[in-house]
Amino acid sequence: QDPLQLLKNRTKKSYQLFQEAQQVMPGGVTANIKYFDPYPIMMAEAEGSRLKDVDGNEYVDYLLAYGALILGHGHHKVTNAVIRQMVTKGTTIFGTPHELEVEMAKRLVKLYPGVEQVRYTNSGTEATLLAIRLAHAYTGKSKIAKFEGHYHGGYDQVLLSINPPLDQAGPADAPVAVPDSAGIDVYYQEHTIILPFNDLEATADILKARKEELAAVVVEPVQAGFIPATESFMQGLRKLTEELGILLIFDEVKTCFRVALGGAQSLYGIKPDLTALGKVLGGGFPVGAVGGKKEIMDVASPHGKKDVFEMNVKSKKKDVLFHSGTYNGHPSVLAAGLATLDVLEEGDNFETIVRTTEKLRRGLENVLRYYQIPVQTLGLGTIFNLVMTTEPITNYRDLQNANLDLRRQLDYYLLTLGVYTKPLNRYSLSLAHSDREIQETIDAYEAAAKQLLV
Ligand code: PLP
Repeated sequence: QDPLQLLKNRTKKSYQLFQEAQQVMPGGVTANIKYFDPYPIMMAEAEGSRLKDVDGNEYVDYLLAYGALILGHGHHKVTNAVIRQMVTKGTTIFGTPHELEVEMAKRLVKLYPGVEQVRYTNSGTEATLLAIRLAHAYTGKSKIAKFEGHYHGGYDQVLLSINPPLDQAGPADAPVAVPDSAGIDVYYQEHTIILPFNDLEATADILKARKEELAAVVVEPVQAGFIPATESFMQGLRKLTEELGILLIFDEVKTCFRVALGGAQSLYGIKPDLTALGKVLGGGFPVGAVGGKKEIMDVASPHGKKDVFEMNVKSKKKDVLFHSGTYNGHPSVLAAGLATLDVLEEGDNFETIVRTTEKLRRGLENVLRYYQIPVQTLGLGTIFNLVMTTEPITNYRDLQNANLDLRRQLDYYLLTLGVYTKPLNRYSLSLAHSDREIQETIDAYEAAAKQLLV
């Protein structure tokens, strides 16, 4: 039977609610990424590894809020930390500096090789934005470079060449900037240079030619959380950017506390100049942070400098970079983040999640290969993706070899069998995923693979 029809039969209340949602929100969603055909499944409850939708169907959750929930839904230590913060300290937010900001910053400095100082934001988007602004301010240069296929958040400067049609994207070794969505001014196409991921030679050629203009290269060390930079590419990129006077920004919003507690930089043994963090850092609450070398971060320090709100101040010192936000360093968020980090650092909890991830990867590969479906899993640590091709995948263009239709069909069957990720999305694991969930998921794959081949 058609998996879409099966799904529709099980999700009638979701459909009704989606009709209402469409009246009051464009596309019925509050983030475009949350939409999928024929309509997104509306969730009602969650606990541990599981989601329950408004029709009462249960799912093992592998989306985990796009990776943010590494302990699963509603971990008691996270919940208790937030309640304790609000009840015993008597506030949701101080609106002033406070202890938890300092505590989390100290932990990040200890864990992340490239982080000497920290500033908080409310999202990963704001974190990469602040890192890029710091780079402009520190170097005085006006352009940045990003890699084709890499996502850094929702603003104009980086909403380029994330998912470009190949007939518009230029040669593989010299990609051009293609806006991925409406409303991106042509200015940004001229000021954001696109690089080919995992191709050091071509990247070097472009960076050398543009070094006078480039403030920074921003990179996802593990593209979309599942295509790691090769060791030689990463080492080469660090050396090259240092030699050329271009800052290296690691976007570790997705990888922080997911590929290793010290992020991808701890695995590669590399100190980026600046690092953007997010997702798991907030334990399921909105967060982002920028960390980096003191000398660069210091551009944001207001000590003795002229701030944007201090008009007419006669200061000979350099202007300070603007960074603000009513909710930056929110105490409930940091309480949740610190509790999450505590649990991850307890015993071998982090390694357990990595082992569970490995078990699931091997199990799914075995099932699909048994049914002669061409597949590989790609990823690092506690996150992976299932790519329907046996060809090697090292960048965005290689991904075009994957059979998306087959993957999508499989994903729809899986939704009807109680395995949740948004169709075509990656799999994130959590401490709440036990052998039971892994076996259930492997069994669901077995059933889905049989249906696919009928
Ligand atoms: N950078 C990367 C690598 C991400 O994966 C994301 C989110 O998916 C972001 C930045 C943006 O983070 P946020 O959604 O918190 O704004």
